Amino acid sequence: MNAVACPVCGRAASRDPFYHDWHGRRFWLMRCGRCTHQFIHPPITGEEQDMIFRDEYFSAGGGWVGNCWDEDYLSAEPQLRLEAKEILGMLGAASGRLLDVGCAGGVFLDEARRSSFEVDGIELNASMARIARERFGLEPVRSRIEDVEEARWGSEFDVITFLDVLEHIPEPGAALSKAARWLKHEGLLFIRGPLKNSRRVMAKESARRMLRMIKRLPGYPLDANQFNVRSMETLLARAGFNGIDYINRTEDFSNILARRRLPR
Ligand SMILES: [Zn+2]
Repeated sequence: MNAVACPVCGRAASRDPFYHDWHGRRFWLMRCGRCTHQFIHPPITGEEQDMIFRDEYFSAGGGWVGNCWDEDYLSAEPQLRLEAKEILGMLGAASGRLLDVGCAGGVFLDEARRSSFEVDGIELNASMARIARERFGLEPVRSRIEDVEEARWGSEFDVITFLDVLEHIPEPGAALSKAARWLKHEGLLFIRGPLKNSRRVMAKESARRMLRMIKRLPGYPLDANQFNVRSMETLLARAGFNGIDYINRTEDFSNILARRRLPR
């Protein structure tokens, strides 16, 4: 295998003894020797992204909330509203313009609008984008962020959110650089997603690495990236964010607030 560059820091990464088998292709977990980031290689294609984020993903038992609930997107609305309020409370900003990347059916955006944000969204799944339009009168851009032209927005947002989204994007650095350019200079970036931090899991992985015990992982390569604190810090710095304001960890997710600032 030719050298594979880490999508966070660019250093050549090595193959971990873990893989997914999906649609006749083998997707290996890679690990960067410098920033310790883990990611899937080969990267999933746009077509495969469409396959992963089809309607079934947002159904009861779909992968959209890490199988936390047995409800589909619309039945989970009351819970989604509670979570939205919680996230809005963590932002430290109460108004302005907010962009939600991967906004699904728009419940979070609707809640943000109620709390007086002016809102925009981007959503890949056509059915979710339709729910956002028909149910909430929102007008999300129907696209993956990779395909949204950078010129679409200037530096005009006060807040950009990626809720359970960034880990699924094969090129997270490009996505965050774009977001950085759409933010005002003191704009806020809020990421919710998994941060790998279990020492037990890391010890298990490193034993496997030493013993060269190859393991097929269940399921499909849903998480293109597995961040940890170090690789997340590296990613944010390279995308133009000046440090992490805070990380708030819950059992299932980490909430990360970063701020874009003027270069010193
Ligand atoms: Zn790296």
